[in-house]
Amino acid sequence: MSDRYAEVRHDVWLHARQMWEQGLAVGSAGNVSRRADDHHIAITPTSIPYDRMRTEEIVIVDLASGEAVESVAPPSGELPMHRVVYQARPDIGALVHTHAPFITTLSVLRLPLPPIIDEMFLHLGGTIEVSDYAFTGTDAVGENALAALGQRAGVILANHGNLCVGRDLDRALHAAIVMESCARVYVQALQIAPPAPLPLSAEEAGLRMYDERRRR
Ligand SMILES: [Zn+2]
Repeated sequence: MSDRYAEVRHDVWLHARQMWEQGLAVGSAGNVSRRADDHHIAITPTSIPYDRMRTEEIVIVDLASGEAVESVAPPSGELPMHRVVYQARPDIGALVHTHAPFITTLSVLRLPLPPIIDEMFLHLGGTIEVSDYAFTGTDAVGENALAALGQRAGVILANHGNLCVGRDLDRALHAAIVMESCARVYVQALQIAPPAPLPLSAEEAGLRMYDERRRR
């Protein structure tokens, strides 16, 4: 039987695999999703390690009801967070949620990630804020994430990890990769001295480029 979602499932599978290969996820932690059409999203399944996950196990979920359709596996337990974000933000087409070690270090300290490298303005849109804490798997994780996200490319989830957003999966995954590498530099720098702040001119130039990229 032909699968009308085959291409979408493959896209999610591929980016989930890349997230794992980049060391942003261990075992089956973290999850990846994108819009499949106007009424559905495609999301990674629950509890299947990335090295064993198959394309056909990516789950199609009806956005309004939260029910899986035309799928063989149950969706990620963090589906409620994804649904809340897609329903509130039509501009967001894809989500990458990680428990990567350095960004999660900041998340347990509830420390925002300031733009310490000028590329952070360009790729992430400024300081990555920390959302209020909510228990994993609840709508409140998504609601709190939205409140702290703004127009930036991601948010730190208190005592949990991060959530990166984009118009498509390439952009959301890129934000997750950049964010983890900057978090690593920041955590390492803090062990020596407070990092030097960037000049206002760098912020202005970087944010202008961020806005241009988002509109492209
Ligand atoms: Zn999680």
